[in-house]
Amino acid sequence: MNEHLEARLALVTDQGLRRQLREIESPQVPRIQTGGRELINFSSNDYLGLANHPKLKEAAIEAIDRFGAGAGASRLICGSLKPFHDLEESLANFKQTEAALTFSTGYAAAVGSIPALIGKDDIVIIDKLVHACIVDAVRLAGAKLRVFKHNDLGDLDRILKWAQVTPPGQSAQPRNVLIVTESVFSMDGDIAPLKKIVELKDKYGAWLMVDEAHATGIFGGRRSGMVEHLGLSGQVEIQMGTLGKAVGAAGGFICGSRKLVDVLINSARSFIFSTAPVPAAAAAAMAGIEFIQSEEGKQRCSILWERVTQIRSSSPAPSECAEAGDSPGQNACSTPILPLIIGDETKAVATASSLRERGFLIPAIRYPTVARGAARLRMTVTADHSNEDVRSLGEALKQIIHQGS
Ligand SMILES: *Cc1c(COP(=O)(O)O)cnc(C)c1O
Repeated sequence: MNEHLEARLALVTDQGLRRQLREIESPQVPRIQTGGRELINFSSNDYLGLANHPKLKEAAIEAIDRFGAGAGASRLICGSLKPFHDLEESLANFKQTEAALTFSTGYAAAVGSIPALIGKDDIVIIDKLVHACIVDAVRLAGAKLRVFKHNDLGDLDRILKWAQVTPPGQSAQPRNVLIVTESVFSMDGDIAPLKKIVELKDKYGAWLMVDEAHATGIFGGRRSGMVEHLGLSGQVEIQMGTLGKAVGAAGGFICGSRKLVDVLINSARSFIFSTAPVPAAAAAAMAGIEFIQSEEGKQRCSILWERVTQIRSSSPAPSECAEAGDSPGQNACSTPILPLIIGDETKAVATASSLRERGFLIPAIRYPTVARGAARLRMTVTADHSNEDVRSLGEALKQIIHQGS
């Protein structure tokens, strides 16, 4: 086996795709300690700086004191701990849906819920750039998978039309059609034209699932996500997200109707056949959601948007705008994710190391996270970065790009 493993590693190394873990000795804050050095971290999804916030830490500690360290079994087996129910009530209220169900991660939410709702005779239509967990979930469901060009409504319309036609030899029994997209795309930082996608799914009688992983906590008046921001609450059948990014804790969720949640409790295998998360995670997530909706949360969110504006004006090559005018208020182009597309994998790694030498942590994102030849530095900014952090990153980027890495 060793030889086989060596050959596998040599292959990824040759392609510039070898990945390694970097141990850090500090919490996830903008200035992290690693290998005896301090680096300014511009790669975290902790957009509001809640992962190390005293309110979340206190909530976790309190939950440990009251409910213990572990959950003992799946929630259907030995009783479902109160912190999960409190969190789900809080989430449903936050997202303005009838109900919510939490999972151990966002990944588990996707691979549990899609196969629970969709079977092999059904059709799932996904945006080209959706997260790997959605692709894995559709494969697991065994459904027919169709991919539309990124944010391309014409292409989506074409596939929806195709999905209406019953293939020869099949009974005319209606098949379910599910569209899945992200609201803010994780690796490109652009935004889906959700209003138009809602119109299309209504026109064709399809269902819509929106992954709000990078929008929850930072968009909308209550900051519950892009669905709220665009006034689409109640028009999206399935909202999914993670509690591990702006919410500052860990876990995944599905929000929707009571019936949807009841079906998932009965059929989502990653929910049924997996030990419940630790109660501390649920308590921390709930504290995160409460914080986001508070006046303090609102202020922190405006600091985030100030930093976003600042980094976008001081860095080269911001991502393209998906659909200008789709988003009221905030500029539709504006998200805390800025990809600096490099292309070549080895060159992207070299650029990331020049940045590291200058004291910045922005890892190169490569295949299979993004397409081959589309390697990039994915910069993210948070409310915990200072003005000065962002300014110095802008300087470093200019120097590196001047030198051609
Ligand atoms: C991070 C992410 C997930 C997975 O969530 P986890 O809680 O990290 O498992 C799902 N979808 C998107 C778009 C993500 O960025």
